[in-house]
Amino acid sequence: MSISQNIQAILSDLPKEVQLIAVSKTQPVEKIMAVYNTGHRVFGENKAQEVATKAANLPSDIEWHFIGHLQTNKVKFIVPFIHTIHSIDSVKIIREVNREAAKNNRIVRCLLQFYIATEETKFGLDRAEATELMLAVTSEHMQNIEIAGVMGMASYTIDTNLIRQEFRNLKDTFSWLKTNYFSTSNSFREISMGMSGDYQLAIEEGSTLIRIGTAIFGERK
Ligand SMILES: *Cc1c(COP(=O)(O)O)cnc(C)c1O
Repeated sequence: MSISQNIQAILSDLPKEVQLIAVSKTQPVEKIMAVYNTGHRVFGENKAQEVATKAANLPSDIEWHFIGHLQTNKVKFIVPFIHTIHSIDSVKIIREVNREAAKNNRIVRCLLQFYIATEETKFGLDRAEATELMLAVTSEHMQNIEIAGVMGMASYTIDTNLIRQEFRNLKDTFSWLKTNYFSTSNSFREISMGMSGDYQLAIEEGSTLIRIGTAIFGERK
């Protein structure tokens, strides 16, 4: 199947409240344009320099989402144009995003990344760390970030029960944050979960943003 057939197939049975992020990391500009030319405008990348270069060389109406681990010294490369950062995993990083966003006179949409997998290698907050982060956001009056929801990555496994449980944990964490910090906010509404191998499960468990690379572009080199 071609790239445009792949994306049409995914979009055709997507509930309307779920948004597709085409994960274009490692993909060349021509392949991204093949997706763009189907009318799709929302893309995800996981490296700061790569997304900055691509954003400079591709149409300006693309909505770029940053989904990879972010280092403090790379924040300045993406804040001028990024639509949403999915991978906020420390006080230090959100402080830096807020600082750079203020310089750019922007409010940057951020998701808090939670550690939901049983594997050891994944980045993300737990609830105690999120509590600390929310305290910092409030007490330091960070006004150039908008916390819009949560993000998580399930374990890389064929055990669908485990994946489902991890997605449920993320949804529970979303509800916990909503109740405790965002009960009057309309913008706190995103649950970013689901990749090529597990997005159907993620949608069943309440995902609002799925991040799909391989199922659109084919295997990465
Ligand atoms: C690469 C990546 C994806 C997409 O993975 P696929 O399996 O290719 O769909 C989604 N989320 C994150 C955080 C990624 O790094």
